[in-house]
Parts: sequence; C-alpha cells; structure tokens
Amino acid sequence: MARPNKQGFPEWNPTNKTLSMLSNISEKVRYKALRNSSSAFINRKDVRDAIFSRDNNKCIICGSTDNLQIDHIHSVYSVIKGQYPLERLNSEENLRTLCNHCNASKIP
Ligand SMILES: [Zn+2]
Repeated sequence: MARPNKQGFPEWNPTNKTLSMLSNISEKVRYKALRNSSSAFINRKDVRDAIFSRDNNKCIICGSTDNLQIDHIHSVYSVIKGQYPLERLNSEENLRTLCNHCNASKIP
C-alpha cells in the first residue's frame, strides 16, 4: 500500500481480510479490523525498534524510559471517521514513543 520511505521504515500491509472488513458498513467492524491490524504492526520488533530509537528510547512527553509504548498521533478512530488517511496510519510520521502513563493520560 504505502511505498517504503527513504529511512527504510517497515511498510504496513493490511491483509485482504482487513481490507475487506474495512469496507463493511458497520463502524464497529471497521474499527476492530483496523485496530487489530494496526496493533500487530506496531508490536513488531523492527517497528518498535525504529520508533524507539528515533525518539531516543524515551517518552516524548515526560522523558521517562520506563514502560514505553508506541502511540498513534492520529488514532485508529480518526481514520475510521475519515479524518486521517488510512495509508498514513502506521507510517513513521504518525507513530511516537510514549510511556504507559502518558499514553493512558491521553495527552494530545
Ligand atoms: Zn511519559
């Protein structure tokens, strides 16, 4: 789907099943399909390594190095709502490093 960028960030390739679920009329089905595919991608070691390393292995909000997670800047929900393009959801520019505390705090 998205072409690899110059840094060689891994490409997210939704499966045909995910893509077919994304054309479902139900928002709930589309959200679930996208969230599952997206989580599988951002839990990949190469993806985590790339984002953590770019962000110096710390939370970009508070600087903590504990319990780091990958967060979508524009959420899965915003894609379902048509507010952010699907092909950018799991791009390097839409992912950031947050600690679990900041992630849970939903700081924009
Ligand atoms: Zn934090």
